[in-house]
Amino acid sequence: MKEILKKQLIEVLKDQKEIFGDELFQDNLLKRRTVVAEDTKQSIYKDVKSHSKVSEPLNLKKSNLDSLVFISEEKKTKLEGHSFFEKKEDWENSKNLEELNKLICNCQKCSLGATRNKFVFGSGNPNADVMAIGEGPGADEDAQGLPFVGRAGKLLTDILKAIKFEREEVYIANIVKCRPPGNRTPLPQEMDSCMPYLKKQIELIKPRLILCLGLTAAHGLLKKKDSLTNLRGKVFEFENAKVMVTFHPAALLRNPNWKRDCWEDVKKFRKLYDDLILSNGKN
Ligand code: SF4
Repeated sequence: MKEILKKQLIEVLKDQKEIFGDELFQDNLLKRRTVVAEDTKQSIYKDVKSHSKVSEPLNLKKSNLDSLVFISEEKKTKLEGHSFFEKKEDWENSKNLEELNKLICNCQKCSLGATRNKFVFGSGNPNADVMAIGEGPGADEDAQGLPFVGRAGKLLTDILKAIKFEREEVYIANIVKCRPPGNRTPLPQEMDSCMPYLKKQIELIKPRLILCLGLTAAHGLLKKKDSLTNLRGKVFEFENAKVMVTFHPAALLRNPNWKRDCWEDVKKFRKLYDDLILSNGKN
């Protein structure tokens, strides 16, 4: 009995977070990160300034670093450990989705790799105009290695059908490719570790429109801290694609009252598609 109550409480809290966001937690985290990034930037800036007449911070790239001969070796070593100086990995040069999948399917970049059953790359039309992006694999997805299977997956198929898309013509993926234990929300550092893979998928597929399913997907992709209420109904941009946000199908299964709002969202999404694709054709 206690277990059932606990599970129900977790679901309710998840739903509240889905709608209202968790800005408080993310705010603090973001502030901490910004301070660290600013510290690094300032220390580089100071180094540059003390050795030259440069009056503005430089745009820091690996090539710039090599030319900054007046930065001490000790500082260079420290900077080379920073992410923007890391060497390109093989998967970044993938020419298609198949190759990318092969190169990243054994990833262990975050702790989710250790607990997954199956890596969930994504599925659908590799030339899709439309992508649907969710949060991460659940139990069914983890068992099958496919995104959006089970009840939530069926509901997503129905939602797509309602706005005249066949599931096969859309590409479906998630922010993280391995299941968070107990279906918890992926942590910010897990999303940051996995996002480059999704970005590469988007680069290869070149969708014109992206539908974010749920707040976590929207936060992960758009890096906006707003609540779902504020994000819904608006059109954002990501890598040349128009992005809209609606509810995650799993949240709709828990709260069927939100289906009407979701219907309004996806109708707007379809209209955007019609305006963009049907009137102009795909570039
Ligand atoms: S969630 Fe993403 S980054 Fe983490 S182990 Fe899985 S594939 Fe790698």
